[in-house]
Amino acid sequence: MHDLPSKREECGIFGVYGADDPATLIYLGLYSLQHRGQESAGIVVSDGTKVVSHKGMGLLSDVFKHQDLAGFKGYMGIGHVRYSTTGSSMLRNAQPFLVEQIDRIFALGHNGNIVNIERLRRKLEAKGSIFQTSADSELIAHLMLHKKGKLEERLVNVFEELRGSWSIVMLTPDGIVAGRDPYGIRPLCIGRKGDAIVFASETCALDIIEAEYIRDVQPGEIVIADKNGLRSVQGPRKPNPAMCVFEFIYFARPDSKVFGHGVYGVRKALGLQAALENPAEGADIVVPMPASGNYAALGYAQGSGLPYEYGVIRNHYIGRTFILPSPAVRNLGVRLKLNPVREILKDKSVVVVDDSIVRGTTSRLRTRTLRQVGARETHMRISCPPIRYPCYYGIDFANRGELIACTHTTDQVRDFIEADSLKYLSLDGMFRAMPLPANHFCAACFTGKYPVRISDEFTKTCLEPHLIVPDG
Ligand code: SF4
Repeated sequence: MHDLPSKREECGIFGVYGADDPATLIYLGLYSLQHRGQESAGIVVSDGTKVVSHKGMGLLSDVFKHQDLAGFKGYMGIGHVRYSTTGSSMLRNAQPFLVEQIDRIFALGHNGNIVNIERLRRKLEAKGSIFQTSADSELIAHLMLHKKGKLEERLVNVFEELRGSWSIVMLTPDGIVAGRDPYGIRPLCIGRKGDAIVFASETCALDIIEAEYIRDVQPGEIVIADKNGLRSVQGPRKPNPAMCVFEFIYFARPDSKVFGHGVYGVRKALGLQAALENPAEGADIVVPMPASGNYAALGYAQGSGLPYEYGVIRNHYIGRTFILPSPAVRNLGVRLKLNPVREILKDKSVVVVDDSIVRGTTSRLRTRTLRQVGARETHMRISCPPIRYPCYYGIDFANRGELIACTHTTDQVRDFIEADSLKYLSLDGMFRAMPLPANHFCAACFTGKYPVRISDEFTKTCLEPHLIVPDG
């Protein structure tokens, strides 16, 4: 399908300790986190002795049929939905990643990107480690196996060697461990359901199982849930966090809390700020680009006093695997996914609010479609600044050459997308809408100021020369 998302989510992780039926809780939790990764899914459950694992390519509902869960006996487990930010999309890279040490089995699920993976992997290979995958999650597991001491000490040592972003959940023979990188780039929260402790990328995964949100795992913190309850050790931590601002703009679900704050309210505040900064003279209505533009558009409408109209309707049944029957109908593809409502748009000057422009091709198709149904003017308002730099911490934006704001001025982007006007939210405006001070966030895709240095050799597939036979 030509309308593949130009910015893709990264991964969703979930863990639970002390539950009667962990597999069902993990399954439901992952269902709520499906937006964070659709390429593979996996669940590992244990009773402390035996480990049951299943993973596969595709959506959770493709990988797990109902009967699959019946055999998952135990009281603890972890789960993962994946989009391949490091390592190709193939079954061997699906997570949770399992590793055996003598008679003990560990499993690990990771959200983020380890940017010094190549150097660390070469070091481990020189010591005799043999890697099965090209995903950085395996590296974390191998590093841990090479450390000595108590689990906490080993993990603190591992965290000191890693560079990049990681939120992890780990199944050990004794319990579940969760941890975040020193900047807390990716989210991870802790919840409680009765006596069970739950870890999840976003709070929407707690809501679905009726677990209560306790708090976030702090940057650099390692939290362990086992038969002694919940305990925590502080690993490496930076003076200021660098939480991904894009979680609030686009990635996280609007009904989630990430980094301790509700996403819905922030998205609306971004739209309100856009209305204050970038009014559209003479416009008649505000129309969201569903679904991610909905909440910013609501804020824009409230800030501008313009009526809010659902001028574009989303078809929820178009999956990512939809293939257009022939190139001749390529332009119809966008209307299969988002169809404009003629009677709302005809002869109107329309403010279209969207969360971002990456390559610009999708925005152009949408503007054209609005015109085809009679919109008189289209004014694009973007609820964040121009994306000019790639993300190395777990979000798969286009590379720099493909980011339209990197190679075009705003006026040129406006012409390219065939809008009558185009305005981005300023960096200051974006931070004004955030619930925490600017120095708590990573905003490198807007500013190019990366909190963690990127090694020259780091690429998404930097370890793939090792892999010969793709299996998925
Ligand atoms: S570069 Fe952008 S998308 Fe990546 S972590 Fe930083 S803010 Fe998030």
